[in-house]
Amino acid sequence: MFWTVLKIVLFLAVVAGLVMGVEALTQQEAGLRIAIANTEFTLGPVQMAIAAIVLLAALWLLMKLAGLLVATIRFINGDDTAISRYFERNRRRRGLQAVTDGFLALAAGEGDKALTKGRKAEKLLDDPVLTNLLIAQSAQQKGNAAMAEEYYKRLLDDDRSRFVGVQGLLAQQVEAGNPVKARKLAETALTLRPAHAPTQDRLLSLQSEAGDWSGARKTLLETSRSGRLPKPVFKRRDAVLTLMQAEAEAEKGNAALAQDLAIEANRESPELIPAAVMAARAHVAKGKPGPAGKVVRRAWKAKPHPELAQAYAAIAPDESAVQRVKRFDSLLSEAPGPEAQMTRAELLIAAEDFPGARRAIGDLHETRPTQRVMTIMAAIERGEGSSDAVVRGWLARALIASKGPQWVCDNCKHEHAAWQAICGHCGGFDTLSWTETADTSGPSATGTEMLPLIVGALPPAEAEAAAAEADLTPEAETVPEAETTEAEPVEAAPEAPTAEDEARAEAEVIDLAQTRRMGL
Ligand SMILES: [Zn+2]
Repeated sequence: MFWTVLKIVLFLAVVAGLVMGVEALTQQEAGLRIAIANTEFTLGPVQMAIAAIVLLAALWLLMKLAGLLVATIRFINGDDTAISRYFERNRRRRGLQAVTDGFLALAAGEGDKALTKGRKAEKLLDDPVLTNLLIAQSAQQKGNAAMAEEYYKRLLDDDRSRFVGVQGLLAQQVEAGNPVKARKLAETALTLRPAHAPTQDRLLSLQSEAGDWSGARKTLLETSRSGRLPKPVFKRRDAVLTLMQAEAEAEKGNAALAQDLAIEANRESPELIPAAVMAARAHVAKGKPGPAGKVVRRAWKAKPHPELAQAYAAIAPDESAVQRVKRFDSLLSEAPGPEAQMTRAELLIAAEDFPGARRAIGDLHETRPTQRVMTIMAAIERGEGSSDAVVRGWLARALIASKGPQWVCDNCKHEHAAWQAICGHCGGFDTLSWTETADTSGPSATGTEMLPLIVGALPPAEAEAAAAEADLTPEAETVPEAETTEAEPVEAAPEAPTAEDEARAEAEVIDLAQTRRMGL
C-alpha cells in the first residue's frame, strides 16, 4: 500500500517537474537560470536536455532506492527475506525478459542473439529446464553441436525435460549420420513415451535400415497398439518385416527358424508374393506339398508372378514335363491371363508340345509383345523346326520389345531386379509392386542380355558388328541390376526335368545361365 502511494506521489512529482521545466523553457528562450546555494547557473538548450536526462536518471534511481528503502523497512520490522526478495524480484523480471527475447530470436532464426539471451537468462534465473532448452536449441541453430549436446544432456536431469533432451540428442545423431547411437536414443525415447508417433516412425526406419527386423516388429506392434495403424496395414507391414527376418535368419544358416518365420509372414499377408514363395519352399522342406500348393495358388490368384510358378514347380521336382503341365492346370486356372498363358507355353515347350505352346500363347505377340513373349515365340519356332532366320527374327523383335512387368517402386518408379522391403532408390518401405514399367518401348537393359544368342548364330563378321553395337547401347552399363529380371521366367521351363536331348536343343535358344557366363 505504502509502495503504491509512494509511486503515485513520485509520478505526480515527475509530471509537475516536467511542466515546470517546459514553462521555464518557454519563458526564457536564452536559457535557464538556476540558483543553488547562492551560486547561479545559466543553462543553454543542450545543457538543459542533458540536465533533463540526468534528472530522469536520478528519479529512476530514487525510485529504486525507495523500493530498497521499503524492503529495508520491512526487514527492520521483522520480515527476514524482504531485502533478498527485492533483489530476487528484479533478477527474475530481467531473466524472464531475456528468456522471452531469446525464444523470439530463436523463432526468428537469430541463433547468435538467442544464445546471448539464453546465457543471460541462465545467470539470472534458477530455471534450468527453461534456460537449458533455450541454450541447447540456440546452439543447435547456430551449428554449435558440442554446446547443444552438453545442454541437451543437462535436460536429461529433470523428469519434465528428459524426453525433450533425448529427442534433441536423437535429432543431432541422425543429422550427424550415427545410426547406431540414433537407434539407442530412439529406443530410450520410446520407453519414456511409447505412444509418441514421430519417434515410433523414426525408430522403425532406423531399425529397418540396420536390419534389426525383430526390433522393428516390436516397434510396429507398439505403433499398432497406440491405434495409429489400421489392422490390415499393420498385418501387411508386419508380414514384410517377418519375411525380412526370415531371409536374415536363412542367411545366418538358421533354416528351421527361417522356415517358421516365412510361414508366419505368409499367414499374415497371403498375397505378399515373396512371402508366399518362401513359405511354399518352407512347406516343401517340411515335407508338406499340400499346404505349399495352397499357399502358391492363393498368391497367384491375387497376382500371378513367375516366381510363384517356379515355387509351384519346386513342389514336385521329380515329375515329368507332361505331368507338370497337368499339375499346373489347377494353378493357372486360378487366374487366367497373359502370365498364365506364358507360363503354360513355357511348360508345353519343356514338354515338347510346340503346337500346344503356340495355342497357349495365342496372340500375345501382337497384343502384349514383351521380350518374354518374343523369346517364347523363338523357342516355339525352333522347336517346330523353323529356319534360323525365323528364330533370329523373333529374337531380334525381343530386343526392341517392352520389358513387361517389373518390381517397380510406387513412390519413385525405380525398377528393381528383385523384390525388397525397402526401395534401394528412395528408401520407401514396402513400396514395390509387380507392375508394367513406365518405360515400355525401345531397347531395354534386359534386352541386351539376349544379344549373345543372336551373336552365336551369326557369321563372325556380323557378330563383331553386333557386339560393337552392343557396346554402344548405354543401358547395358547403366542399369546392370535389371539385367537378369526378364530372363528368369524363361528359365522356369528348362528348370523342369526334361529329356536330355530336348534340354540341349532348348539350351541353344534360351540357356540364359550360359548367356550370363558370357559376361553380358
Ligand atoms: Zn522408391
